Amino acid sequence: MSEVEKVNCSFCGKNKQDTNILIAGNSAHICDLCIQQAHEIVKEDFVSKNSIIDDFKLLKPKKIKAYLDDFVIGQNDVKKVISVAVYNHYKRILHLENDQDNIDIEKSNIIMVGRTGTGKTLIAKTIAKLLNVPFCIADATVLTEAGYVGEDVESILTRLLQAADYDISKAERGIVFIDEIDKIARRGDNPSITRDVSGEGVQQAMLKLLEGTIVNVPPQGGRKHPDQKMIALNTNNILFISGGAFDGIEQHISKRMNTRSIGFRSIKEDDLDAQNILKYISPADLKSFGLIPELIGRMPVVSYLNPLDSEALKRILVEPKNALIKQYQKLFEIEGIILTFDRKAIDIIVNKAIEFSLGARGLRSICETIMLDLMYNAPSDKSKKEVRITATYAKNQISKLPFTNLDAA
Ligand code: ADP
Repeated sequence: MSEVEKVNCSFCGKNKQDTNILIAGNSAHICDLCIQQAHEIVKEDFVSKNSIIDDFKLLKPKKIKAYLDDFVIGQNDVKKVISVAVYNHYKRILHLENDQDNIDIEKSNIIMVGRTGTGKTLIAKTIAKLLNVPFCIADATVLTEAGYVGEDVESILTRLLQAADYDISKAERGIVFIDEIDKIARRGDNPSITRDVSGEGVQQAMLKLLEGTIVNVPPQGGRKHPDQKMIALNTNNILFISGGAFDGIEQHISKRMNTRSIGFRSIKEDDLDAQNILKYISPADLKSFGLIPELIGRMPVVSYLNPLDSEALKRILVEPKNALIKQYQKLFEIEGIILTFDRKAIDIIVNKAIEFSLGARGLRSICETIMLDLMYNAPSDKSKKEVRITATYAKNQISKLPFTNLDAA
């Protein structure tokens, strides 16, 4: 064998004779097969890093909505609006990456109006799960204008960075849910009466975040500190979804509806769905509620959630993929016990939840109260193979319910 033919691939060890090509490096060799394999690995890694975009290509609005349907009961209008907004948002990102015609597609940040416990957070969370992007919830009530006690608006992005394990490029494609956006509404009509550090000031501070810019984020959150090293984050591709109850906005809506015509005809009071006036919400109502026009302009997609009636609450208890009843049944199944709920027991839970007007939020604490004794005793009772929750049992347990429990739900 000649000297050259003794050369082997440094990766698989194959002799030069057994390869098509063996490429020589400084002190190593690589054969054509190993090059091919290495290429596959690099390609796979690239695809997984860009999978948000690749997956998204397959996810049309109808698919997004169908996914939401598995987790969120009712709320069809908002689910449709969000599906389109999310689709357009990620389409916009794709477009930016292959921009040839300089048409600027604006961001589709979203604002959702609806009572507490109707599914606002659930929708935002479910969307993030579907897209497999980092997601965080920020509470607008703790934010204050820079320099005042409270958190700077940049701290919202700290949470997103944390959710992305400090992977900046991941965080830059994440979703932020800003809860209780209504609580930073301007107080009173005259903006100059007093300094409004937790109202209009915060709204102003939020503008740059929402529209897309480079923001210096304190990695540990809280108040910015002169010595703290900041992380620069581009918010251009971050989707902001905000939600709020906007208590009393119905009055603004009906006032506007009664004084203005909509489309080609003016809406008479008889035509209005008085039970759910929220469905007529428009940016003008958000403005009269106290959000500044600039902020409203940066959240161009406005939608609403219906209050949950007893039918919806009943479905929420049993239907979604992770419905409460299914969760308890799973917990008992692990103990080898079959758990069933009588229909009347479910009615009792729902009626109690309506009484406490906490939307679906009340369901959990009511169920916990009903199930507590059983969950306490079942693991030590090997003889029990079946548990049935009857209306009488549910009623008895609920009578032990302290009101404070519901508050914390
Ligand atoms: P909010 O509108 O106040 O953000 P959430 O989305 O946090 O309400 O809802 C609280 C809980 O109630 C959720 O975890 C979810 O289990 C349940 N829930 C609320 N609305 C719905 C809904 N439309 N479909 C299914 N579950 C819901």
